[in-house]
Amino acid sequence: MARESAEAERLNPRSKAAYERAEHLFGRVPMTWMNKNAGAFPRYLDSARGARVTDVDGHEYIDFCLGDTGAMAGHSPAVVGEAVRHRFTELGGATAMLPTEDAEWVGAELTRRFGLARWSFSLTATDANRWAIRLARAVTDRPKILFNSYSYHGSVDESLIVVGPDGQGAARPGNVGAPCDVTLTSRVAEFNDLEQLERELAHGDVAAVLMEPALTNIGIVLPEPGYLEGVRELTRRYGTLLINDETHTFSAGPGGCTAAWELEPDLLTIGKAIGGGIPAGAYGLSAELADRLLGRSDLDLVDMGGVGGTLAGNALSVAATRATLEHVLTDEAFAHMATLSERFEAGVRGSIEAHKLPWSVSRLGARTEYRFADPAPRTGTESAAAQDAELEDFLHLYLANRGILLTPFHNMALMCPDTTEQDVDTHTRVFADALAELAG
Ligand code: PMP
Repeated sequence: MARESAEAERLNPRSKAAYERAEHLFGRVPMTWMNKNAGAFPRYLDSARGARVTDVDGHEYIDFCLGDTGAMAGHSPAVVGEAVRHRFTELGGATAMLPTEDAEWVGAELTRRFGLARWSFSLTATDANRWAIRLARAVTDRPKILFNSYSYHGSVDESLIVVGPDGQGAARPGNVGAPCDVTLTSRVAEFNDLEQLERELAHGDVAAVLMEPALTNIGIVLPEPGYLEGVRELTRRYGTLLINDETHTFSAGPGGCTAAWELEPDLLTIGKAIGGGIPAGAYGLSAELADRLLGRSDLDLVDMGGVGGTLAGNALSVAATRATLEHVLTDEAFAHMATLSERFEAGVRGSIEAHKLPWSVSRLGARTEYRFADPAPRTGTESAAAQDAELEDFLHLYLANRGILLTPFHNMALMCPDTTEQDVDTHTRVFADALAELAG
């Protein structure tokens, strides 16, 4: 680690100096999570295109991080750039409080992909989740939302809950400035645990279960056979709505896990990748739910009711989303990305097996992740226990020093339409070298 840290300093003097100069930023970075970095300072972005990122020190990287899914369409796809330029510069009008016709095209396309009949827009997945939660509470007249332990759905207050050591709901460690005891607003169950889910739903106070069909933010935790069917059956039985957050699981295919596994959520939220790099999010709801909500004269869905943002659904975001869905993250692109991801998984598995390491590797369409546990964890809590920050930092830094970026926070690699077999094979080779050194 000492050798790799010294090497990062040698390779990136300009990034290091920029970081040292950044005295007017909270934590020296534009967003505090940018300090989640394997080295002593972040590498500064110069430019990025497709599956490649170049830093200010002139090094080019194969980018498997892809903005933690924000750039799953590849960096700055030309067709999105053209749509953005057309909207912003030629037509003019990024944000005007007026709808554009692109929005109905996007709504129809999201319906084709995910099945939900009505759509509304946000700028982030976090806001899509916040607003979906508010609508769920309003329509069910129940106070609580249930989450899976160690899930992540953005900076949504209700979601920062885990199953504590005593088996009861508890604040997620490190939560900053919670407005109240999280158990007042939320319930929690382990992923893949239907018994615990039923015990919690039986209280009769849960408006919605908000979940990812596979956990993706604590490693990938895949659903066991029958689990998602059980969730749907139990939520229906207890009058609880089901919200699928497809922000990351969108990697499973053009309609995310919802289409790939024929799931039937009442609401669906998504963000990040759909805008091709321009901020955009969306939530979908069934026609029946939409009609019920719109029929409620006591709910202010137009002005101060707490669902909406001034720039949500703005003409620029919607134009970018249309271009991304119409031309970039197409059915064919997903097929290519999944094939590459399989290749990536096989490469990682080969090295793990060669060294007989007790690690596992899981894949969700275009996304692959390895975990320092074997067999692969079944729940978020098990997966959290398999974390090894030092080992993770070493691998990230080793790869970055050799021109490969993984997603900080985990060992996640995502493919985009521009990723090539050669990119994957380069990772396989460097990863094998890293393990050989570790095992050596
Ligand atoms: N949902 C999921 C599943 C996520 O992984 C994330 C972010 N990692 C979010 C929501 C929140 O996205 P954002 O921070 O872009 O609002």
